[in-house]
Amino acid sequence: MSVGTALFGLDRDGLTSFFHGLGEKPFRAQQLMQWIHQRGVADFGHMTNLAKPLRGRLAEVAEIHPPEVLVDQCSADGTRKWLLRVDGGNAIETVFIPEHNRGTLCVSSQVGCAMACTFCATGHQGFNRNLTAAEIIAQVWVANRALGHSADGERIISNVVLMGMGEPLLNLPAVVPALNIMLDDMGYGLSKRRVTVSTSGIVPAIDRLKAQCDVALAVSLHAPDDTLRDELVPINRKYPIAELMAACRRYMAGKSARSHITFEYVMLDGVNDSPAQAARLAALLTDVPAKINLIPFNPFPGTSYRRSSASAVARFQEHLLNRGYIVTVRRTRGDDIDAACGQLAGQVMNRLRRLEPLVAELR
Ligand code: SF4
Repeated sequence: MSVGTALFGLDRDGLTSFFHGLGEKPFRAQQLMQWIHQRGVADFGHMTNLAKPLRGRLAEVAEIHPPEVLVDQCSADGTRKWLLRVDGGNAIETVFIPEHNRGTLCVSSQVGCAMACTFCATGHQGFNRNLTAAEIIAQVWVANRALGHSADGERIISNVVLMGMGEPLLNLPAVVPALNIMLDDMGYGLSKRRVTVSTSGIVPAIDRLKAQCDVALAVSLHAPDDTLRDELVPINRKYPIAELMAACRRYMAGKSARSHITFEYVMLDGVNDSPAQAARLAALLTDVPAKINLIPFNPFPGTSYRRSSASAVARFQEHLLNRGYIVTVRRTRGDDIDAACGQLAGQVMNRLRRLEPLVAELR
C-alpha cells in the first residue's frame, strides 16, 4: 500500500523538485540517487549522510519500494534472468547477457505489446499496460545489486538495451526518466552510446526521443520492402519504410561520426533471408550510419515461421559485409533458461503460469 511519494522512479530533476517541496537543497537529490541506485539501499534509516530529522521526514512522506523478485535463474553460459512482480498480478522479465568485454541487460518497457509483430511471442500476447519509470529502473536496480562490480571496480552491467517486452517509444513519459537515471553519474553512470532504445518504428516518437534524451537507437526492421514489412511489423502500414528511414536520418543528424543505428533483422526461413533481399537491405541503408544485427529466429508454440538455416544466415551476412556494413549475428544464449532477449522476452505469462508452483513455494 502506497504511503507517500514513490522516489524509485524519479530522475534527478524529479527528486530535486521533491526536495524543493520539502524546503531542502538540490544536492539532496544527488545523495538520494547515490543511496538508491549506486548502493542499492531502499531504507531511509540507513542513509547515514542525511540528518536524522530528514530521514524521519522522508519515512513519513515518501517511499522506496523495491520490486519483488519471483525468480532468479542463471544459465550455464552465464546468462541470468530475473522475473519481477509488478502491480496488477503481472510479472516482467529482465535478462543479463555476459559477453567478451561487456555485459548487456535487456529491459522491458511494457507488459505485453500492442505492435503485434507476427514473428514475436510477445506480440501474440497482446498489450496489458505500460510499466512505470519505477518498474523500468527497478529491473536495472535488481540486476545491478545482484551482479555488482568486477575485481577492478568496473560495473558488470556495461550496456542496457530496452529491447525486452514492449514498444518503449509508446511509453516515453516513463521511459525517459528511467533513461535519465541510467545515464546520470549519480545513478548508473552509463555512457549514452551504451544505452539503446529499440523501436518497431513509431516515427513521431523517434523525433520526440531525440528531443528528450540522447541515447542510441535500434530499429526492428526485419524486411527490406514495405510489402513484406507490412506483414511482419504491422505498424509499417502506418509509418512505411521511407518515413522510417527519414526519421532515422533526422535522429542521426548532429551525432558523432562513431554513432550508428542498429537495425535488427530476424532471420526467417524462406521469408526474408534471400540474397535478393540482402541486396535490397544494403541499398536501403546506404545513407544512414548503420550496423546490422541478424537474429536467428527462436520458434515459439503456434508460429508457422522457421529459423533460417546457418548457411542462409552466413550468405546474407556475407552479402552485407561485402557492401561495407558492420554485420553481427546474435548468438543464441541462455537456451536452458529460455532467455531469448530480443525475440523478445516473450511468453512471460506462460512461463509464469508454468513457474507458479515454484513461485508459490518462494512466497
Ligand atoms: S517485436 Fe517488439 S514491437 Fe514487435 S510485438 Fe514484439 S515486443 Fe512488440
